[in-house]
Amino acid sequence: EVVVSAENVSYEYPDGTLAVKDFSAEIRDGERIVLLGPNGCGKSTLIMLLSGLVKPKTGKIRIFGVEPNRNNAEFLRRNIGVVFQNPDDFLFNPTVLEELLYTPSQLNIPYDEAVELARTHARKFGIDYLLEKPPFRLSGGEKKKVSIVCALMLDPKILFLDEPTANVDGKTRRKIVEILQKRNSTLIVATHELDIVPKIADRIILIGMDKKVKADGSLEILEDH
Ligand code: ADP
Ligand code: ADP
Repeated sequence: EVVVSAENVSYEYPDGTLAVKDFSAEIRDGERIVLLGPNGCGKSTLIMLLSGLVKPKTGKIRIFGVEPNRNNAEFLRRNIGVVFQNPDDFLFNPTVLEELLYTPSQLNIPYDEAVELARTHARKFGIDYLLEKPPFRLSGGEKKKVSIVCALMLDPKILFLDEPTANVDGKTRRKIVEILQKRNSTLIVATHELDIVPKIADRIILIGMDKKVKADGSLEILEDH
Protein backbone atom coordinates (compact mmCIF):
# COMPACT_ATOMS: atom_id res chain seq x y z
CA GLU A 1 0.00 0.00 0.00
CA VAL A 2 1.40 3.39 -1.08
CA VAL A 3 1.18 5.95 1.75
CA VAL A 4 2.98 8.88 0.12
CA SER A 5 3.45 9.56 -3.55
CA ALA A 6 5.22 12.39 -5.33
CA GLU A 7 4.73 12.89 -9.03
CA ASN A 8 7.10 15.24 -10.86
CA VAL A 9 7.23 17.62 -7.91
CA SER A 10 9.14 20.88 -8.15
CA TYR A 11 9.41 23.70 -5.64
CA GLU A 12 10.81 27.18 -6.01
CA TYR A 13 11.23 29.69 -3.16
CA PRO A 14 9.87 33.23 -3.66
CA ASP A 15 13.40 34.51 -4.38
CA GLY A 16 13.60 32.15 -7.36
CA THR A 17 15.76 29.40 -5.78
CA LEU A 18 14.81 26.03 -7.22
CA ALA A 19 14.93 23.75 -4.16
CA VAL A 20 13.29 20.59 -5.51
CA LYS A 21 13.43 19.58 -9.14
CA ASP A 22 11.10 17.08 -10.79
CA PHE A 23 11.02 14.68 -7.82
CA SER A 24 9.02 11.46 -8.08
CA ALA A 25 8.76 8.59 -5.60
CA GLU A 26 6.29 6.15 -4.14
CA ILE A 27 6.60 5.33 -0.45
CA ARG A 28 4.89 2.22 0.85
CA ASP A 29 3.49 1.48 4.28
CA GLY A 30 6.24 0.44 6.69
CA GLU A 31 9.17 1.55 4.54
CA ARG A 32 12.08 3.20 6.34
CA ILE A 33 13.47 5.82 4.01
CA VAL A 34 16.42 8.12 4.21
CA LEU A 35 16.64 11.16 1.96
CA LEU A 36 20.40 11.47 1.68
CA GLY A 37 22.43 14.20 0.08
CA PRO A 38 24.67 17.22 0.59
CA ASN A 39 23.56 20.49 2.22
CA GLY A 40 21.32 22.45 -0.09
CA CYS A 41 20.13 19.54 -2.23
CA GLY A 42 16.53 20.08 -1.09
CA LYS A 43 16.01 17.55 1.73
CA SER A 44 14.32 19.96 4.16
CA THR A 45 12.05 21.27 1.44
CA LEU A 46 11.16 17.68 0.47
CA ILE A 47 10.22 16.89 4.09
CA MET A 48 7.86 19.89 4.05
CA LEU A 49 6.39 18.83 0.69
CA LEU A 50 6.01 15.09 1.43
CA SER A 51 4.39 15.80 4.81
CA GLY A 52 1.87 18.13 3.18
CA LEU A 53 2.98 21.26 5.02
CA VAL A 54 4.03 23.00 1.83
CA LYS A 55 2.31 22.86 -1.55
CA PRO A 56 4.41 21.99 -4.61
CA LYS A 57 4.65 24.62 -7.35
CA THR A 58 4.21 21.91 -9.97
CA GLY A 59 3.46 18.21 -9.71
CA LYS A 60 1.38 16.27 -7.22
CA ILE A 61 1.79 15.01 -3.65
CA ARG A 62 -0.63 12.43 -2.29
CA ILE A 63 -0.68 11.27 1.33
CA PHE A 64 -2.87 8.25 2.08
CA GLY A 65 -4.17 8.74 -1.46
CA VAL A 66 -5.33 12.34 -1.08
CA GLU A 67 -3.81 15.68 -1.99
CA PRO A 68 -3.26 17.66 1.24
CA ASN A 69 -5.75 20.52 1.57
CA ARG A 70 -7.71 22.41 4.20
CA ASN A 71 -10.42 19.74 4.42
CA ASN A 72 -8.09 16.85 5.27
CA ALA A 73 -5.55 18.85 7.32
CA GLU A 74 -6.90 17.55 10.63
CA PHE A 75 -6.87 13.93 9.44
CA LEU A 76 -3.27 14.34 8.27
CA ARG A 77 -2.26 16.01 11.51
CA ARG A 78 -3.70 13.07 13.44
CA ASN A 79 -1.72 10.54 11.40
CA ILE A 80 1.57 12.27 10.62
CA GLY A 81 4.39 13.37 12.91
CA VAL A 82 6.99 15.89 11.78
CA VAL A 83 10.26 16.79 13.49
CA PHE A 84 11.81 19.93 12.04
CA GLN A 85 15.51 20.60 11.71
CA ASN A 86 15.56 23.52 14.13
CA PRO A 87 13.40 22.84 17.21
CA ASP A 88 13.56 26.56 18.18
CA ASP A 89 11.25 27.32 15.29
CA PHE A 90 8.27 25.69 16.96
CA LEU A 91 8.83 25.18 20.68
CA PHE A 92 6.68 28.03 21.99
CA ASN A 93 4.70 26.76 25.01
CA PRO A 94 5.55 27.81 28.59
CA THR A 95 6.57 24.29 29.67
CA VAL A 96 7.68 21.08 28.00
CA LEU A 97 4.53 19.32 29.28
CA GLU A 98 2.32 21.94 27.61
CA GLU A 99 4.40 21.57 24.46
CA LEU A 100 3.65 17.83 24.43
CA LEU A 101 -0.06 18.49 25.06
CA TYR A 102 -0.40 21.07 22.30
CA THR A 103 -1.22 18.87 19.29
CA PRO A 104 -3.49 16.49 21.27
CA SER A 105 -5.43 19.53 22.56
CA GLN A 106 -5.84 20.83 19.00
CA LEU A 107 -7.27 17.45 18.02
CA ASN A 108 -9.68 17.34 20.98
CA ILE A 109 -7.98 14.42 22.74
CA PRO A 110 -9.24 14.42 26.36
CA TYR A 111 -6.82 16.30 28.64
CA ASP A 112 -6.27 13.48 31.17
CA GLU A 113 -5.57 11.00 28.40
CA ALA A 114 -3.07 13.40 26.80
CA VAL A 115 -1.26 14.00 30.11
CA GLU A 116 -0.99 10.24 30.62
CA LEU A 117 0.43 9.85 27.10
CA ALA A 118 2.89 12.70 27.65
CA ARG A 119 4.16 11.20 30.91
CA THR A 120 4.52 7.71 29.41
CA HIS A 121 6.42 8.94 26.35
CA ALA A 122 8.57 11.30 28.39
CA ARG A 123 9.57 8.45 30.68
CA LYS A 124 10.38 6.14 27.76
CA PHE A 125 12.55 8.80 26.18
CA GLY A 126 14.19 9.83 29.45
CA ILE A 127 12.94 13.42 29.42
CA ASP A 128 10.49 13.24 32.34
CA TYR A 129 12.80 15.47 34.39
CA LEU A 130 12.20 18.23 31.83
CA LEU A 131 8.39 18.32 31.88
CA GLU A 132 8.03 21.45 34.02
CA LYS A 133 10.90 23.36 32.35
CA PRO A 134 10.41 26.09 29.76
CA PRO A 135 11.55 24.71 26.37
CA PHE A 136 13.79 27.74 25.68
CA ARG A 137 15.93 26.84 28.71
CA LEU A 138 16.84 23.39 27.37
CA SER A 139 20.07 22.36 25.72
CA GLY A 140 20.09 21.69 21.98
CA GLY A 141 19.97 17.93 22.47
CA GLU A 142 17.12 18.18 24.95
CA LYS A 143 15.11 20.35 22.55
CA LYS A 144 15.62 17.76 19.86
CA LYS A 145 14.36 14.97 22.14
CA VAL A 146 11.34 17.05 23.18
CA SER A 147 10.43 17.74 19.57
CA ILE A 148 10.70 14.03 18.74
CA VAL A 149 8.46 13.11 21.68
CA CYS A 150 5.96 15.78 20.50
CA ALA A 151 5.82 14.07 17.11
CA LEU A 152 5.45 10.60 18.66
CA MET A 153 2.64 11.51 21.08
CA LEU A 154 -0.17 10.19 18.88
CA ASP A 155 1.82 7.27 17.42
CA PRO A 156 1.75 8.63 13.85
CA LYS A 157 1.42 6.28 10.86
CA ILE A 158 4.16 8.26 9.13
CA LEU A 159 7.01 9.92 10.98
CA PHE A 160 9.04 12.60 9.16
CA LEU A 161 12.33 13.78 10.66
CA ASP A 162 14.64 16.46 9.35
CA GLU A 163 18.25 15.89 10.51
CA PRO A 164 17.24 14.19 13.78
CA THR A 165 20.83 13.65 14.96
CA ALA A 166 22.45 16.92 13.86
CA ASN A 167 24.13 18.88 16.68
CA VAL A 168 23.46 16.39 19.48
CA ASP A 169 25.96 14.62 21.73
CA GLY A 170 26.82 10.91 21.42
CA LYS A 171 24.47 9.73 24.13
CA THR A 172 21.47 11.63 22.77
CA ARG A 173 22.33 10.42 19.30
CA ARG A 174 22.27 6.78 20.40
CA LYS A 175 18.95 7.35 22.17
CA ILE A 176 17.40 8.90 19.06
CA VAL A 177 18.69 6.11 16.81
CA GLU A 178 17.34 3.51 19.27
CA ILE A 179 13.89 5.13 19.30
CA LEU A 180 13.81 5.23 15.48
CA GLN A 181 14.95 1.58 15.26
CA LYS A 182 12.10 0.52 17.55
CA ARG A 183 9.38 2.12 15.45
CA ASN A 184 7.66 -0.14 12.97
CA SER A 185 5.58 2.41 11.08
CA THR A 186 6.70 4.38 8.03
CA LEU A 187 9.77 6.52 8.59
CA ILE A 188 11.03 9.31 6.32
CA VAL A 189 14.28 10.87 7.47
CA ALA A 190 16.36 13.62 5.88
CA THR A 191 20.02 13.45 6.79
CA HIS A 192 23.51 14.08 5.50
CA GLU A 193 25.00 11.80 8.18
CA LEU A 194 26.01 8.56 6.47
CA ASP A 195 26.77 6.60 9.64
CA ILE A 196 23.17 6.53 10.92
CA VAL A 197 21.73 5.38 7.58
CA PRO A 198 22.28 1.58 7.88
CA LYS A 199 20.95 1.72 11.44
CA ILE A 200 17.59 3.30 10.67
CA ALA A 201 16.80 2.80 6.98
CA ASP A 202 15.96 0.07 4.49
CA ARG A 203 15.72 2.36 1.47
CA ILE A 204 17.80 5.31 0.37
CA ILE A 205 16.83 8.10 -1.95
CA LEU A 206 20.11 9.73 -2.87
CA ILE A 207 19.93 13.32 -4.09
CA GLY A 208 22.79 15.19 -5.73
CA MET A 209 24.01 18.77 -5.58
CA ASP A 210 22.12 19.39 -8.84
CA LYS A 211 18.90 18.39 -6.98
CA LYS A 212 18.40 15.31 -9.16
CA VAL A 213 17.70 11.86 -7.69
CA LYS A 214 20.97 9.94 -8.17
CA ALA A 215 19.71 6.60 -6.89
CA ASP A 216 16.70 5.10 -5.14
CA GLY A 217 16.97 1.64 -3.64
CA SER A 218 18.17 -0.62 -0.87
CA LEU A 219 21.21 0.02 1.33
CA GLU A 220 23.54 -1.52 -1.28
CA ILE A 221 23.36 1.62 -3.39
CA LEU A 222 25.63 3.24 -0.78
CA GLU A 223 28.49 1.05 -1.98
CA ASP A 224 28.18 2.33 -5.54
CA HIS A 225 28.20 6.02 -4.63
P1 ADP B 1 18.87 20.67 2.47
O1 ADP B 1 17.85 20.38 3.55
O2 ADP B 1 19.20 19.49 1.63
O3 ADP B 1 20.08 21.35 3.02
P2 ADP B 1 17.01 22.75 1.64
O4 ADP B 1 15.72 22.15 1.29
O5 ADP B 1 17.15 23.42 2.97
O6 ADP B 1 18.18 21.70 1.44
O7 ADP B 1 17.40 23.84 0.55
C1 ADP B 1 17.33 23.59 -0.85
C2 ADP B 1 17.69 24.88 -1.58
O8 ADP B 1 16.71 25.88 -1.31
C3 ADP B 1 19.02 25.48 -1.16
O9 ADP B 1 19.64 26.04 -2.31
C4 ADP B 1 18.64 26.55 -0.16
O10 ADP B 1 19.58 27.60 -0.15
C5 ADP B 1 17.30 27.02 -0.71
N1 ADP B 1 16.40 27.53 0.33
C6 ADP B 1 16.00 26.89 1.46
N2 ADP B 1 15.12 27.64 2.15
C7 ADP B 1 14.97 28.79 1.44
C8 ADP B 1 14.18 29.99 1.62
N3 ADP B 1 13.37 30.13 2.66
N4 ADP B 1 14.27 30.94 0.67
C9 ADP B 1 15.08 30.80 -0.39
N5 ADP B 1 15.84 29.71 -0.63
C10 ADP B 1 15.78 28.72 0.27
P1 ADP C 1 24.10 19.70 25.67
O1 ADP C 1 25.43 19.05 25.82
O2 ADP C 1 22.99 18.69 25.50
O3 ADP C 1 24.04 20.78 24.59
P2 ADP C 1 24.07 21.90 27.64
O4 ADP C 1 25.49 22.03 28.05
O5 ADP C 1 23.53 22.93 26.70
O6 ADP C 1 23.80 20.41 27.11
O7 ADP C 1 23.13 21.91 28.94
C1 ADP C 1 23.40 21.08 30.03
C2 ADP C 1 22.26 21.16 31.05
O8 ADP C 1 22.03 22.51 31.47
C3 ADP C 1 20.95 20.67 30.48
O9 ADP C 1 20.37 19.77 31.41
C4 ADP C 1 20.07 21.89 30.33
O10 ADP C 1 18.71 21.63 30.67
C5 ADP C 1 20.66 22.84 31.33
N1 ADP C 1 20.55 24.21 30.81
C6 ADP C 1 21.08 24.69 29.66
N2 ADP C 1 20.78 26.00 29.51
C7 ADP C 1 20.04 26.35 30.60
C8 ADP C 1 19.42 27.56 31.05
N3 ADP C 1 19.51 28.69 30.34
N4 ADP C 1 18.73 27.54 32.20
C9 ADP C 1 18.62 26.41 32.92
N5 ADP C 1 19.19 25.23 32.57
C10 ADP C 1 19.88 25.21 31.42
